Amino acid sequence: MTRPAATRSEAVFTDFKHAYGKPQAIAEANRCLYCEDAPCITACPTSIDIPEFIRKISTDNLKGSARTIFESNILGMSCARVCPVETLCVGDCVFNHMDAPPIQIGKLQRYATDAAFDAEWSFFEAGPDTGKSVGLVGAGPASLAAAHELRRLGHSCTIYEKREVLGGLNSTGVAPYKMKADRALEEVEWVLGIGGIEVKTGVEVGGDLSLEDLEANHDAVFFGAGLGVDRFLKVPGEDLDGVHGAVEWIERMKLQELDLSSVTSAAVIGGGNTALDCVRELLGLGVPNVTMVYRGGEAGMSGYHHEWDEAKREGARAAWRAQPVAFEGDGAVARVRCAVLDEDKKPVEGEEVLLGAQLVLMAIGQGKLGDMLSGLDGIEVQWGRVVTNDDGATGRAGWFCGGDAANGGKEVVNAAAEGKRAAQAMDIYLGGQN
Ligand SMILES: Cc1cc2nc3c(=O)[nH]c(=O)nc-3n(C[C@H](O)[C@H](O)[C@H](O)COP(=O)(O)OP(=O)(O)OC[C@H]3O[C@@H](n4cnc5c(N)ncnc54)[C@H](O)[C@@H]3O)c2cc1C
Ligand code: SF4
Repeated sequence: MTRPAATRSEAVFTDFKHAYGKPQAIAEANRCLYCEDAPCITACPTSIDIPEFIRKISTDNLKGSARTIFESNILGMSCARVCPVETLCVGDCVFNHMDAPPIQIGKLQRYATDAAFDAEWSFFEAGPDTGKSVGLVGAGPASLAAAHELRRLGHSCTIYEKREVLGGLNSTGVAPYKMKADRALEEVEWVLGIGGIEVKTGVEVGGDLSLEDLEANHDAVFFGAGLGVDRFLKVPGEDLDGVHGAVEWIERMKLQELDLSSVTSAAVIGGGNTALDCVRELLGLGVPNVTMVYRGGEAGMSGYHHEWDEAKREGARAAWRAQPVAFEGDGAVARVRCAVLDEDKKPVEGEEVLLGAQLVLMAIGQGKLGDMLSGLDGIEVQWGRVVTNDDGATGRAGWFCGGDAANGGKEVVNAAAEGKRAAQAMDIYLGGQN
């Protein structure tokens, strides 16, 4: 499996949330009320039995605790690090209504799952061979979760991945102060450890392998290709050196060594979570002036406010109600010219902002990939998203989809949940007895 270089830029980051040691973990576990009908379980897209795994931590039964987590979510190790718990499980802890700090579920989950990885415990084995084969597009969280479940149910799996690096955005996109690429790759290896999942890297479905051949080679298909490339504003100067798509830049920062020594000012265009990640990553890599340029006000940004609060503490600035109209410079970008917008996001006549920037990251969203399936009879695509039922089935027999390609771009835990659910529906489609 391809490994990222030790000298890559992301290596300078340390975890922004400290891991629990045993005394802290047991003390935190003992605070849990082990609620019946626990709201945190409902808030978790993979429905982990949270009170149960926490109870097992309180009795120092780490193996049992980790098993409870992985039984529901095979990507529980990475989810413990990357889930936005404030808006998921932790956000729904009953302590939030009792004037007490909520249980740190993500940290406890990390404590149990890290112990499982350190001890190299394995919990699952492949089911009896059914003779059926499934082709999966992409090696991101959705396909990995689907393939693992399919193997437990006895179906053989082949994952086709266009990149050389496995793990999808868990390896190439997640902010390094949450999880670095090498840890994501350890998880991929751990998931593949169930055996019987063939992985073909450097194979682009729709290019190197046609959709027709994919369908002909397998009894069912799972489409877990995620989202497409970064969007741009289509304003003058976007082709200047130093103007990059955010997700493309983050991937290079995570896998390669970037030279930012000549960058004293950077602008990040957008107000979502990818923009916030870029801002914090640039500051962490030593860029002194980093400005987020957003066309709305602070209250209206779609990125998590707790992340923006952290970014501000780290020195981030913002240009609110500013819309880039041109990137200027001689060969390389030097300035961002922005219109100033009013409350209705309309340009204010005669007002503009000029920001110096030797690096500009466009974090205004990614394209969708569903359109590549729109030529297949029965598959419906809406705004680039593949339309499925609740179990991930499309309108074409044998074709299933989950993760960002179906939900339009959510979180790793959603991809894990949808991949697993689709695998169970595929098992029924394939005539499984499970
Ligand atoms: C910058 C960034 C930061 C994020 N941070 C977080 C976070 O902190 N926490 C969180 O929970 N979520 C985060 N997310 C969202 C999360 O990463 C995604 O929701 C999740 O990875 C989706 O999984 P997926 O398997 O659907 O797609 P992906 O992870 O995108 O994986 C899709 C895979 O398919 C491959 N592929 C695409 N097309 C083809 C093709 N034609 N043939 C073969 N292979 C193909 C791709 O190379 C990729 O490996 C972040 C997203 C971004 C962009
Ligand atoms: S997977 Fe994520 S949302 Fe679910 S319990 Fe774990 S940290 Fe919370």
